[in-house]
Amino acid sequence: MRNGDSKLVLIAGGAGFLGSHLCDALLSEGAHVVALDSFLTGRKQNLRHLEREPRFDLVEGDVVRPLSELLKLKKLKFDQVFNLACAASPPHYQASPEHTMLTSVVGTHNLLTLSEDVGARFFLASTSEIYGDPEVHPQKESYWGHVNPTGPRACYDEGKRAAETLTFDFDRSGRADVRVARIFNTYGPRMRADDGRVVSNMICQALAGDDITIYGEGSQTRSFCYVSDLIDGFMRLMSYEGKFPGAVNLGNPVELTVGDLARCVLSMTGSKSRIVTRPLPVDDPRRRRPDISRAQQLLNWTPGTSLDAGLRETIKWFSGEQERENKPVRTPISSKPPVPASPA
Ligand code: UDP
Repeated sequence: MRNGDSKLVLIAGGAGFLGSHLCDALLSEGAHVVALDSFLTGRKQNLRHLEREPRFDLVEGDVVRPLSELLKLKKLKFDQVFNLACAASPPHYQASPEHTMLTSVVGTHNLLTLSEDVGARFFLASTSEIYGDPEVHPQKESYWGHVNPTGPRACYDEGKRAAETLTFDFDRSGRADVRVARIFNTYGPRMRADDGRVVSNMICQALAGDDITIYGEGSQTRSFCYVSDLIDGFMRLMSYEGKFPGAVNLGNPVELTVGDLARCVLSMTGSKSRIVTRPLPVDDPRRRRPDISRAQQLLNWTPGTSLDAGLRETIKWFSGEQERENKPVRTPISSKPPVPASPA
């Protein structure tokens, strides 16, 4: 399977938004990549351009299942194992919360065990969601978070927290060499139109002339990182030599309100869409911004793509999707936010 000296890399979740960009980056560095995906939210079309690539293989399977059942994955001597396998947008991960939790916990355990067996370096795609609705701002890696363990977001937040726990237990006992990235809101080409997240929703709504949905008053903030910057962070983290001290935040620290994002998308698309409000989902974090000093110091990483440039690329990509489909690409679940808050 391996070509000469090239690295053999497994990407669980390889057909997803981030996973497919990571496949491209690793292949362009000469690696042999095996993408594993259940296609629950990942899509074959994200990898279609790699169909004839001799250093690329795609395996269908769910990381919750024993990996030995999947193409004898345990027999392959991977150098690196990336775990990006999990639905990540609130409407998708809340659609099947039990499966979301098991994906993070059992899936991470399966992939850690595989890494231990073959001596691979293991990467966990963790999330800013582990900070919950943060009481510390901006969020540093040393902050333990403020998560509601029984709410509708818990399947994802607590699942990822448990995945981090497992990962650092393997690390502490010397069973695997691990890297943990806490990913903040990321956007770019290959997001799904029905992802339900704010950037894809607003761009698709603006392009289709549909109402732009702001959940709550739009005063909540997020910090949006362009996908190529994030993938560059992944690559630097995975090639960091020596023991990496704990988890690392990867995100763009430029913070804006959801209302400002809506106005930005409207002006960049020239759309005549109206802005409408919808109920704020339960436990929706009020503020989020990464402190990236650890990534800057240890990885020499700073996201370089401005919101303007990143949104322009993303709008261009969704417009292309419309042309390919010859109809507006709509966001079917956008008018239905994940579990709205009941009136207090
Ligand atoms: N949001 C919104 N309109 C939408 C989708 C999301 O106002 O059509 C809000 C959502 O309530 C949240 C923010 O935008 O406050 C970011 O939501 P997203 O689902 O993208 O990510 P997350 O909440 O996981 O950061």
